[in-house]
Amino acid sequence: MKERNKKIKDIYLEKKEEAGKSGYYLNPDKEFTGQLLEGILLNEKRYGYQSCPCRLASGKKDEDLDIICPCYYRDEDIDKYGNCYCGLYVNKKIAEGKDKIRSIPERRYNKKDKKSTSEIKAKYPVFRCRVCGYLCAKNNPPAKCPICGALKERFETFLDI
Ligand code: SF4
Repeated sequence: MKERNKKIKDIYLEKKEEAGKSGYYLNPDKEFTGQLLEGILLNEKRYGYQSCPCRLASGKKDEDLDIICPCYYRDEDIDKYGNCYCGLYVNKKIAEGKDKIRSIPERRYNKKDKKSTSEIKAKYPVFRCRVCGYLCAKNNPPAKCPICGALKERFETFLDI
């Protein structure tokens, strides 16, 4: 637990510094931000790189370069909507509570099935295992988490459609 908290704190400070350098802020909702950072750490453990916690990675770094956090789409999304796709990075107004974070369209193009991931997202909500952070885009969470074995009732809706 101590080790986990330290890792989250470290990545929080690292992202905050990096955000500040780019003129951005981390989402002021500490709990939500913590969940996203946990997802990034989990992806790093799973794939060896910090892929976006809100997108399905292929597991092949070459194919996922665009979604290693901060992703290629962040700046454009913050510029247009005020926050990145996940809501980890926000603009000043949102950081100061003068505007709200919003759900935004996906820019990424899914080469494999020739559909944009926004079309996939439009079809499937994303569920998150509250025990280990596993994310799945399906109509319902799995009966059991394939990573840690937690039962269905321990999943939460991470992104709604
Ligand atoms: S959408 Fe946000 S959290 Fe996801 S990879 Fe891009 S910058 Fe990181």
